[in-house]
Amino acid sequence: MTDYLSTGSLPDEYRQLALTVRDFAQQVVAPVSAKHDAEHSFPYEVVAGMADMGLFGLPFPEEFGGMGGDYFALCLALEELGKVDQSVAITLEAGVSLGAMPIYRFGNDKQKTEWLPQLTSGRALAGFGLTEPDAGSDAGGTRTTAVEDGESWVINGAKQFITNSGTDITRLVTVTAVTGQTGGKKEISTILVPTTTPGFVAEPAYNKVGWNASDTHPLSFTDVRVPKENLLGERGRGYANFLRILDEGRIAIAALAVGAAQGCVDESVRYAGERQAFGQAIGRNQAIAFKIARMEARAHVARTAYYDAAALMLAGKPFKKAASIAKMVASEAAMDNARDATQIFGGNGFMNEYPVSRHYRDSKILEIGEGTTEVQLMLIARELGL
Ligand SMILES: Cc1cc2nc3c(=O)[nH]c(=O)nc-3n(C[C@H](O)[C@H](O)[C@H](O)COP(=O)(O)OP(=O)(O)OC[C@H]3O[C@@H](n4cnc5c(N)ncnc54)[C@H](O)[C@@H]3O)c2cc1C
Repeated sequence: MTDYLSTGSLPDEYRQLALTVRDFAQQVVAPVSAKHDAEHSFPYEVVAGMADMGLFGLPFPEEFGGMGGDYFALCLALEELGKVDQSVAITLEAGVSLGAMPIYRFGNDKQKTEWLPQLTSGRALAGFGLTEPDAGSDAGGTRTTAVEDGESWVINGAKQFITNSGTDITRLVTVTAVTGQTGGKKEISTILVPTTTPGFVAEPAYNKVGWNASDTHPLSFTDVRVPKENLLGERGRGYANFLRILDEGRIAIAALAVGAAQGCVDESVRYAGERQAFGQAIGRNQAIAFKIARMEARAHVARTAYYDAAALMLAGKPFKKAASIAKMVASEAAMDNARDATQIFGGNGFMNEYPVSRHYRDSKILEIGEGTTEVQLMLIARELGL
């Protein structure tokens, strides 16, 4: 897949997809981004548009209502959306790679038949409930419990920072919970919790620094009773299964971050050509031109990293280290480029109506969510045998 980079040309079906999503991002998403950001409102009309295009079904087989594409196709779509609006991009990323993917990877036939068509159509969303108040980077510290009672699991506990968990179209949250002890260690399993289940509450949304149009809530579970058949995957494998989902998700987040980094380059090139100071366009100053050249290099290197990780994953080869590298360099590229773009825009860069100011606020979370930069370094070091 890295050949695409050196030739600069993707195979036609990928290129067409990227161009279609680019057009959608510019025509449909960009005009409403500032409004949803300012109002902290979930962009239902944009999500419906993405659903109509089949984006929520991109990497899933047609038998489950998907488009029959692959994970790289999803990444290309996320890169194009991430250039323009990170909230919209993360809504798709979380909907597909964290919402539907655990069911596709680990669900039984009944669970797949029941949930996947709703989720791949984009008419329903599912959340991924791993993080808890006392279990973030150390996600194995899960305290939420699920106790067997007759034919049910009874769940008690809390999750925090869960994306897509409280929208009008959220139907499901998949949660990790302690289901017992094996060999003196916590046994962690994953369980499907429909959001209509009594005792499940999506608490009021967070007031975030960025990603304002993305939906994020703390969740509480008080004697939430679901059938035993809602166990997702093997009992006791829940934590390991979620880690596999996060490995994949890091490639998708990297693609989103590359979009953000590239969006900052594109905006800066345009602005540096137009904005006049001291009798010439500011881009005529080498200090500005070099800054933008470095931004372009960061975006390019990060793109190479996520293409490589996606290629390994699709080839069925080990991709954990490549995914962590991609996630780390892409999120740092997004944050660095957002800072530089804001500087190039001067005072306008500090005004919320400019896309670069939104990237400045939005990009920080890329270095935190789906594993912080420090966690990526831990994973890379571990893969090196350290
Ligand atoms: C907007 C948003 C959306 C999110 N969506 C989801 C979601 O959908 N589902 C979900 O389950 N979670 C979600 N999260 C949670 C996110 O994945 C966690 O916030 C993240 O993993 C970090 O966990 P924490 O916040 O508990 O930080 P902590 O784990 O408390 O870490 C605090 C700091 O300590 C550092 N640190 C911790 N341990 C070490 C160590 N051993 N060595 C060096 N440094 C260390 C961390 O890198 C970090 O800098 C979301 C978070 C946000 C903000």
